[in-house]
Amino acid sequence: MSCRLCGSQEVQRIEPDEYLYCSNCGFIMIELKELPEPVEEIERYDEHDNSFSSPGYVKMFHDFIEWGLRDILAGVDTALDFGAGPGPVLAELLREHGIDVSLYDPFYYHYPERLNKKYDLITSTEVFEHLHDPAKEIEILVDALKPEAYLAVMTHFHPGPEKFAGWWYKYDETHVGFYNRKTMEWIAKNYKMEIIKIDDFKQVLFQKKR
Ligand SMILES: [Zn+2]
Repeated sequence: MSCRLCGSQEVQRIEPDEYLYCSNCGFIMIELKELPEPVEEIERYDEHDNSFSSPGYVKMFHDFIEWGLRDILAGVDTALDFGAGPGPVLAELLREHGIDVSLYDPFYYHYPERLNKKYDLITSTEVFEHLHDPAKEIEILVDALKPEAYLAVMTHFHPGPEKFAGWWYKYDETHVGFYNRKTMEWIAKNYKMEIIKIDDFKQVLFQKKR
């Protein structure tokens, strides 16, 4: 049994017992046999109200832009919203800043060729928790960044293996992997990025090194 993010064997079972904690990178993952099938995932995503008609959803992205992107947007011409979902609200908000935004989503915008281009900014909001093979998928994202480009991620940070059993964020069965500050630091180091900004609960901005 090894960590799906860092590959370490330092993985232990935690409560509830279908979850595993990696003490090397801090990642918590659901065990392999519990990963949902694509048909279960799409059913769940179609239930989401991800649109401009949902004020809370729009505010979340406004806050994300204010928090992490406001200071860098002037230097951003092209962006990719990875895991855009059915209602690409963030993309529309970024377009208002004059940015050429491409969308990629395995279910709603399945255009793999867009992952072969290079961007000034990649956003991935409420996506990392869904990744079945985070090591590979993060590598693809970092490869699609130009040197010194930015990767902005939103995913709720887990409270640690001791408190995980009572944590709400895992109850969505399509949420299969959970990160904390230590995990984000591991990602930065291993994918040759720096953390420009991180908060205590869900947002991180990386910059790819030269
Ligand atoms: Zn790990």
